[in-house]
Amino acid sequence: MNSPRAAPPTSLYVHVPFCLKRCAYCDFATAPYDDASAKAYVPRLLQELERVPAGAPMATIYFGGGTPTALAEPELERLLAAVRERVTLLPGCEWTCEANPESVTPAKARLLREAGVNRVSLGAQSFQPEVLQALGRDHAPPHVFKALELLRAACFRRLTLDLMFAAPGETLAQLDADLAQLTALELDHVSAYCLAYEAGTPLTRMRADGRVTPHDDDTELVHYRRVRERLAAAGLAHYEISNYARPGEESRHNLVYWRGEEYFGLGLGAGSYEYGTRRTNTRVLADYLGEWAAEPPADARSAAHGISLAAPRPPHEAETLEPAAKARERAILGLRLRAGLDPAAFAAASGFSLEQLYRDGEVDSLIARGVLERAAGRVRLTERGLELADEVFVELV
Ligand code: SF4
Repeated sequence: MNSPRAAPPTSLYVHVPFCLKRCAYCDFATAPYDDASAKAYVPRLLQELERVPAGAPMATIYFGGGTPTALAEPELERLLAAVRERVTLLPGCEWTCEANPESVTPAKARLLREAGVNRVSLGAQSFQPEVLQALGRDHAPPHVFKALELLRAACFRRLTLDLMFAAPGETLAQLDADLAQLTALELDHVSAYCLAYEAGTPLTRMRADGRVTPHDDDTELVHYRRVRERLAAAGLAHYEISNYARPGEESRHNLVYWRGEEYFGLGLGAGSYEYGTRRTNTRVLADYLGEWAAEPPADARSAAHGISLAAPRPPHEAETLEPAAKARERAILGLRLRAGLDPAAFAAASGFSLEQLYRDGEVDSLIARGVLERAAGRVRLTERGLELADEVFVELV
């Protein structure tokens, strides 16, 4: 039912976990930066890179973290050069690097640009000192302006900022000030996230101790609506639950995830989706830096594309979804996009029509509830569905 991919993934994710300081809300796979760990980490990344067939054509590359720009220049340069040497950049390849404002220097901006990075995602989060403090961020507003100036001087045209809203204590007036500042920067892409209290983070412990009070759901909704309204007014179309862009400036790498397509993923805690199998690498730095067991023989398809049969891999968990579960996952990811799903294209890619997947009429029932709609031949979240997306997805999982 599910046709095998004819070729290896053409997208690559590389995770650099180091941060100078951990933000209060962060539950990503991160590690405190120190020179020794960073020097030990990059060679392991390069070892993992050997899994990617030499010369593999890449349409998108994404360096995420953590903070890739926390690496010292020699390590950053070595990593960039190794990726550049290993893969072939397809014409128009989008190569994104995440950066934190305080970690951008003229030399690092130049290294990125010269290697072929053509898009930088800057973790700004807010322009209000009080909000940055509530989030436990390590930078101040002037760092953001300075980083943008340095990146523009290094000829980066494609720049995107992350904004976080509904921080504890944040007022609507502060959010308005953030949105005014953000839109004045005339960027082509913005990611805007509602603060989430993830298990095990300092912020969640502070909430449990009563030291911070989260906003209630209604206030979060007001903030979310304000973000959408202001960004739309600034010409940034809402194209995914948390992402806004001018036409043509969408993140092509993240579209790979939302379309359920495959990608290589390297590094601590990195997810990958290769030849039908999803894997998640260990989040424990000592394990990533330790001994790696040889992989059991790879499947025929990966062998056919030059993957070493016994390439050592870092400790990881693997999951091969059965075809219907894989199709449901693809449906949910696709519904994150404002354009929603084209039912015919979905059936061709997944091997299932929506009717076959949801035999109990879940899609029609969600349409009747006003959270999904059929529009222009597609199925997508309604405005209300956007606000209740998590509940919609639970019904479709
Ligand atoms: S900079 Fe990003 S990855 Fe690093 S601690 Fe903060 S939120 Fe986490």
